[in-house]
Amino acid sequence: MQAHIPTIFLVIITISFALAAAIAMVSLGRRHGLMPWAFGLALHGIAYVFFSLRGEISDFLSIVVASTAISTMLALFAGGIRNISGRRPYLWLIWVPVPIIALGLSLLLDDFIARVVFSAVVYIFQGGLIGWFAYRSDFQSRGRYVVMASTLLLIVVMLMRLLGALNGSLPISTITASSPLQTLTFLMTIVSTLLTVIGMLLMTWERNEQLIRESEIRMRTLFESTSDAVMLLDERGFFECNPATLKMFGCPSKEVFVTKKPADLSPPQQPDGTDSDALAQQQIAKAMRESSNRFEWVHQRLDDGRSFPAEVLLNAMDFNGRHVLQAVVRDITERKRLQAELERQAHHDNLTGLHSRGHFMQRAELEVSRALRYAQPLSLLMMDIDDFKKVNDTHGHKAGDEVLKKLAEVCRATLREVDVPGRIGGEEFAVILPETGIDDAQEVAERLRENIANAQVMAPPSLIQNFTISIGVATLGPANGNLDALLGSADKALYAAKDAGKNRVIRSTA
Ligand code: GH3
Ligand code: MG
Ligand code: MG
Repeated sequence: MQAHIPTIFLVIITISFALAAAIAMVSLGRRHGLMPWAFGLALHGIAYVFFSLRGEISDFLSIVVASTAISTMLALFAGGIRNISGRRPYLWLIWVPVPIIALGLSLLLDDFIARVVFSAVVYIFQGGLIGWFAYRSDFQSRGRYVVMASTLLLIVVMLMRLLGALNGSLPISTITASSPLQTLTFLMTIVSTLLTVIGMLLMTWERNEQLIRESEIRMRTLFESTSDAVMLLDERGFFECNPATLKMFGCPSKEVFVTKKPADLSPPQQPDGTDSDALAQQQIAKAMRESSNRFEWVHQRLDDGRSFPAEVLLNAMDFNGRHVLQAVVRDITERKRLQAELERQAHHDNLTGLHSRGHFMQRAELEVSRALRYAQPLSLLMMDIDDFKKVNDTHGHKAGDEVLKKLAEVCRATLREVDVPGRIGGEEFAVILPETGIDDAQEVAERLRENIANAQVMAPPSLIQNFTISIGVATLGPANGNLDALLGSADKALYAAKDAGKNRVIRSTA
């Protein structure tokens, strides 16, 4: 049985160009790595156009150029399989057959049999290379078996031609002549071409499936293992959230969570008094406008209604053509607690818990300027423990510390909430008394002095019966127009109290 070879060529040309055009169209502007296949198939078509024109165009074109095009196609296919399979063997192995075919056939232009044998050997090598790359592919793909089958077919066809040429059963002198072997050769070429393309497309598809699967697993792991709450929402509400979200907001399941509105996750008002819902709308609008928005927020749990401070990051995204918002919520309770603790430590004296000198001065400035602005009275007490050196010398430094603590304790118990006591030196203390005139201040100072004189300090093993303080009182007025003057006057009064015999209150005469 034999077919009309030029007709088979026409079929090969049609299939090659059609497949080349289809693949080129799909892969235009994409990074599939499919373009080399489109090129290869186009070269295949061109080669068979030249084969068909055998006798009508120069032998160089119809033999050398056409066969070199076939060899180039095989090299492109080998390179393509090499890319898909993830292997990186020597590139020169892929491309060296191309110049060999070009050179060899140029030299063998006059010998049909030699040409058939020579090109069959080179094509067998190239087909083997493609099959080998598919076989050694790094990823488990079934498409590679199709590629391997197609290369096996190519090798079998070429072996048959080679043997046919050697034992004389290919007694023809031109490629377009009809014979059973010729018919088999080119029918199998059609099958081989189709199988290679299908196998390659399957491999590409399988590889992409695998990459997507892997990437999805990575994303899932990130999404599910983070301690930040991650959720997706659109204008209708939430539609996706991670396990951390359920834990953070005390929600039993995702099915329940997606029925909630953003407003359900916040107290009615934020700490500054603004309406949570209105402010949330503003933050969402800002995220939409600027594509992302980071801010602090007070959230509320769904189960026990407890509120907690959070840092929220909103990202506006396009999700399959849909405008969605990704919200990442981080519970910053611990951060806030640490911040407050650090602030407290910076502002307060470790031993007594009273305002430290620096912070006391800041607060005092504030109170003085407020009193001046509203023309309200304000007084300042300056105190110093009497004979404190003796306490230290007699009972030890530790006992001295206990005395300082007791003094702070009595201050807190005696003073009002609005008063500002501070430790401004080793055993020197000052108190700002807002809205307090000189008479009231003296009264407070007397009470303080008395309470301290009556206080007992336990400092094992000894019990210090009591200790006393001297106090100088000054008040804001024409002579003491600012904090410095006030401090100076109170200090002077304190020295006067010491001079007058200690354990007493003296008011500034300024
Ligand atoms: P005066 O009645 O004149 O004030 O006599 P005084 O002995 O109290 O003299 P002064 O005010 O100069 O004493 C300061 C002493 O306070 C010296 C220092 O050893 C002690 N002191 C300062 N800071 C601390 C502290 O943090 N702990 C203890 N235990 N003692 C302190
Ligand atoms: Mg002192
Ligand atoms: Mg003292």
